[in-house]
Amino acid sequence: MSKNQNKTGSYSFFNCIEKNFDKAAQFISIEKGLLEQIKACNSVYRMHFPVKIGKEIKVIEAYRVQHSHHKLPCKGGIRYSMKVNQDEIMTLAALMTYKCAIVDVPFGGAKGGIKIDPQTISSENIEKITRRYTSELIKKNFIGPGIDVPAPDYGTGEREMSWIFDTFLSLRSGDVDALACVTGKPVSQGGVRGRKEATGLGVFYGIRELCHVKEDMYSVGLDVGLVGKKIIIQGLGNVGYHAASFFHENGAIIIALAEREGAIYNKKGLNVSKVFLHLKNNGSILNFPEAKNIKNTEKALELECDILIPAALENVIHKNNANRIKAKIIGEAANGPITPEADEILDKKGVIIVPDIYLNAGGVTVSYFEWLKNLSHVRYGRMEKKFRENVNAEFLKVIETFCKKTISIKEKKMILRGPREIDLVRSGLEDTMINGFHKICDIKKSLKIENMRTAAFVLSINKIIDSYERLGIFP
Ligand code: GLU
Repeated sequence: MSKNQNKTGSYSFFNCIEKNFDKAAQFISIEKGLLEQIKACNSVYRMHFPVKIGKEIKVIEAYRVQHSHHKLPCKGGIRYSMKVNQDEIMTLAALMTYKCAIVDVPFGGAKGGIKIDPQTISSENIEKITRRYTSELIKKNFIGPGIDVPAPDYGTGEREMSWIFDTFLSLRSGDVDALACVTGKPVSQGGVRGRKEATGLGVFYGIRELCHVKEDMYSVGLDVGLVGKKIIIQGLGNVGYHAASFFHENGAIIIALAEREGAIYNKKGLNVSKVFLHLKNNGSILNFPEAKNIKNTEKALELECDILIPAALENVIHKNNANRIKAKIIGEAANGPITPEADEILDKKGVIIVPDIYLNAGGVTVSYFEWLKNLSHVRYGRMEKKFRENVNAEFLKVIETFCKKTISIKEKKMILRGPREIDLVRSGLEDTMINGFHKICDIKKSLKIENMRTAAFVLSINKIIDSYERLGIFP
């Protein structure tokens, strides 16, 4: 039995998602066969390939799973971790399907994984493995702008995406849309501004939206608004790091940060940028001068707080610790951080859980923007920035003449500016996260569903059903 299964009781990670799906299915009246089709993983590609590392030949185990083809291309990250296994990648691919549907990103879900520990492998060897993995995907037609588009995930980032693009291009030379074969690339390699921080920023937008709903806040005994809320973040990878920064910059109080080696705590609040500087200089968050160390990092999840953000790996809140969680709101920045048993315990305690399939969809949303940019071969804002600035200047002139008043230089600068790529990407992301939140709330209210997760699944499954029916596969 794997560690995951110990924490999740008798089911696998994929069973956990099926359980959530089945709860939502009770609110949907549609033929059972269609629901079964939506649930199933369409294609699972498990591969082994040899890579020469030093003088030895190492056999590498890797996966790419395409959960759903109701929309194409398929989309989802690639993770590098020793915990990678088929069940995990299948589950994460399924989550991508539901996630994309909620935020109106027209892709089917996919996920990839390579069973390696990137911390212990040199960058030359990671490059070798990444390129070999990409060529395996190309051989089996598992990658391409209209087929399946990978992105970063746990243990991968811009660097790996660059290698994937370069390998794809060298084997598909002349493909004018090759840039769109992968997202999360560096901006200099066809990436889009705002992709790196997108998941963390999406988490921030989603939680901020919840904090403005009076009934929800009163139901857990909190005031309306994000300012002053006490937050704990577990995991300081790309998602946790950016989420912590956005919460801190916008007036929330980060009372604890937890990493693999331990956690740090200060009930008055941590200065997030100082903590990151400390982490950069010391290789660990521990011994930060303005905080107390907590040796057992899992204990940080159980501290008194308003909002808990698990932003690392799956199944960190399980049946054995759920009862000790004191947070009033849990925002799932990671994929699958709460097991179904823990979910039930927390539901009974009245904790509001903002589910992963909505809350961490900011990454794939901006990946979608990057994919569109790559296919249109032009930077966002390039065509209209100057035009807007000229129109705004004309407007301003009219207003100044009409009001017989001159506007200050600072105000002028703000009013005159045309949109840059980062402005458009962020406003697209903000709008997407706000809309998604309210669509989930509307379903929750109209069907009298008790929690956000089930409502989010209902919203998502309904959208997928609609696509299948329009495809005409099910007469
Ligand atoms: N790995 C991210 C996720 O789990 C992003 C996927 C993507 O951008 O395609 O949502």
